[in-house]
Order: sequence, then C-alpha cells, then structure tokens
Amino acid sequence: MESKDITRRVLLERSAKLPFAGFLMLAAGSSQVKAADDGVCVDFENLDAGQRSIRQSLEYVNVAPDESMNCEKCGFFTPTEGGCGSCLIFSGVADGRGWCVSWSPKS
Ligand code: SF4
Repeated sequence: MESKDITRRVLLERSAKLPFAGFLMLAAGSSQVKAADDGVCVDFENLDAGQRSIRQSLEYVNVAPDESMNCEKCGFFTPTEGGCGSCLIFSGVADGRGWCVSWSPKS
C-alpha cells in the first residue's frame, strides 16, 4: 500500500471520529493560527472545549518527543507564521514543533 493511500485512509478514519463541532472550528481555528507573544502556538487555556478535547484525544503536545516526527514534517500540517501552522486533523492551530498520534510523513 502506498503512503499516499495510508494518509488518505488515516485522514478519513480520523475525520469520521471528529465531532461535528470540530468541523465548525475550521474558520475559528484560522484566527488562532498565529504565534502568541511568548512563542507558543497552542495555548490550551485559550482553546474552546472542542479544540482542547480533540488535541487531548490525539495526545497532542507542543514539543514532539522525537524532532524527526514533528508537525512540520507531517503531511497534515500547513505552515503559517512564527513556526505555527494549521493541522488538517484538528482544523486548527498546531505548533511546528508539536506532535500527535496522527502524525503521518509528508509524501
Ligand atoms: S503531527 Fe498531529 S498535530 Fe501535528 S500536523 Fe500532524 S496530525 Fe496535526
């Protein structure tokens, strides 16, 4: 099976598990895609319950335990500014240095 097929399959599986509210956060998430003054892209304290919940369920962390598998190297990540970006799985902000269990290499 090609990695592109795996990526598509993983995305579909993850999307099916997302609560409807997660999709509604697409627009709202874009306003959060900006580095905070302290350089932290994802401030858990300022996320709404849906955005916080999806990150927790996928074990998201702002700093990957293995730098070679961080968000910047993930196929679901789109960089924006200040080392931050948007995660397709979360439909919201992720830190380029971050990681979650849905990590998939860029093709
Ligand atoms: S590692 Fe997880 S949080 Fe980071 S971009 Fe990929 S899917 Fe999103």
